[in-house]
Amino acid sequence: MSDILKKVDVEKLYQHILEIEGVKHHIVNPQKLNETADYIRSKFQEYGLNTNEQTFEVKGSEMIFKNIEGYIGDESKPEILVTGHYDTSHSTPWANDNGSGIAVMLEVARLLASENLSGCVRFISFTLEELHPTLAQQDRNKGLELGIFDEDYRYMSYHSHKMFKKFNSNVTIGLSKGKPLLDTWQKAYEDIKDNFTDSEKEYCEYIIESRSHVNRTSSVGELGIVGSDIWVKKALELDKQITGVINLAAIGYTSKRKHSQFFPPLLKPLFFPTYKVKFRKGRGDFISIVSDKNSKRLGKIFIKNCKHKNIKLPFLWIKIPLRFEKISKWLYDLIKSDHAPFWKENIPAVMLTDTAYFRSPFHHTEADTIDKLDFDFMKKVTQAIIATVIELSRMDL
Ligand SMILES: [Zn+2]
Repeated sequence: MSDILKKVDVEKLYQHILEIEGVKHHIVNPQKLNETADYIRSKFQEYGLNTNEQTFEVKGSEMIFKNIEGYIGDESKPEILVTGHYDTSHSTPWANDNGSGIAVMLEVARLLASENLSGCVRFISFTLEELHPTLAQQDRNKGLELGIFDEDYRYMSYHSHKMFKKFNSNVTIGLSKGKPLLDTWQKAYEDIKDNFTDSEKEYCEYIIESRSHVNRTSSVGELGIVGSDIWVKKALELDKQITGVINLAAIGYTSKRKHSQFFPPLLKPLFFPTYKVKFRKGRGDFISIVSDKNSKRLGKIFIKNCKHKNIKLPFLWIKIPLRFEKISKWLYDLIKSDHAPFWKENIPAVMLTDTAYFRSPFHHTEADTIDKLDFDFMKKVTQAIIATVIELSRMDL
C-alpha cells in the first residue's frame, strides 16, 4: 500500500487545474464545458481506462450535456464509484468547486489503473451539478429584462449585489428550520423586502415563483444535481450493483486562520469523530466526510485510512444516523451535491468536502482560483481515497 501512496504526484494535481481552470457554464461558456469533458476523457484514455459517455438534453438549452466515465475492471461486477462534477456556476473559475474534485479523481484513476483490482472501479465526472439549466436560462432573461444583471451575468448595481447576498444568507439560515422551501424563500424575502427597489422586488418575486414547484427532496434533480440524478436513474434501470460511492465536492481549500471554520446551524461538530482537529481554534484545516445511515461502514473505512502512517489527514466525520428524507429536512446543506441522488436510493455514498461556503470566502465567486488551493492537502485526500478504494475492492462484498 505504501508504495502506491508515494506515487501521488502533487504536480499532476496542479497541472490538471491549471489546464482547465475557467468558467464552464452552458450559457456563459459552453465551449469550455465541452473542452473540459474532452480533457477528462482524454486523461482517462491516456491512463488506460475504458471510457463511456452518457449524454442527455434539458429543456431550455440547446446543449448536449455529458457525464464522462472512465472505468477499471469487469463491468459485470459490483462497482465502487469515485465521482465529482465538472460544470461550474456562471461566475466562478472552478479551481476548488470542483476543479479540486476532478484533479484528485484523475490522479486516483491514473494510479489505480495499474493496480490489480478485483471488481470494477468507475470514475464519473458529472455535468450540471449547479443550477438547473432551465432555471438558469429563465433567471438570466428575467435579470437582463429588469436590469438586474449585465450581459456577463454581473449585478448592475452594488445595491442589488448586497441585497441578493442578504437574501441568500437569509435563505441559508431559514433552511435549518425544517419548513418547506417555499415558506423559507418567502420569509427570507419578506424580512428585507422594504429595502428592495421595485425591479429587485420583481426579480426576487420571480425567483420564488419560478421555484414554487420544488420541494426539499425534489430539489435534487429539479433545482440542480441534474447530471448525477439522471445517471442514478439509468443505473437503477440497468440494475447496476453499487458497493459504495465516494463523491468529491470542493476538497482543496484550507485555512489556518482562527475562527475561519463555520458549520450549518443545526450541525454541532463536537458530537462527531475527529482526528487532529482543534475546534477551539476554529481552523479550517481538515477534510469532512459526510455519511448517512446507509454509508456508515464506508465512512469508517475512509477515516481509518486517513490515519494511515503515510497519510495522516485531519478529518471531521459528519456521521448522520438518518436517511435522505430527514437529512433534507433538517440538514439541507448536506444534500447539495452529487451524492444526494445515491442517498435518495439508499445506495451507500459519502461526500468528501472542505465544507465549501462554511470555510472558503471564495466559494462561488470570481476568486475561486488556483492560487487559493492547498495542493499538499489535496495530495493527502488523494492518498486516503486510493487506500479506501483498494480496501473496498479487496473486501468480499
Ligand atoms: Zn458549486
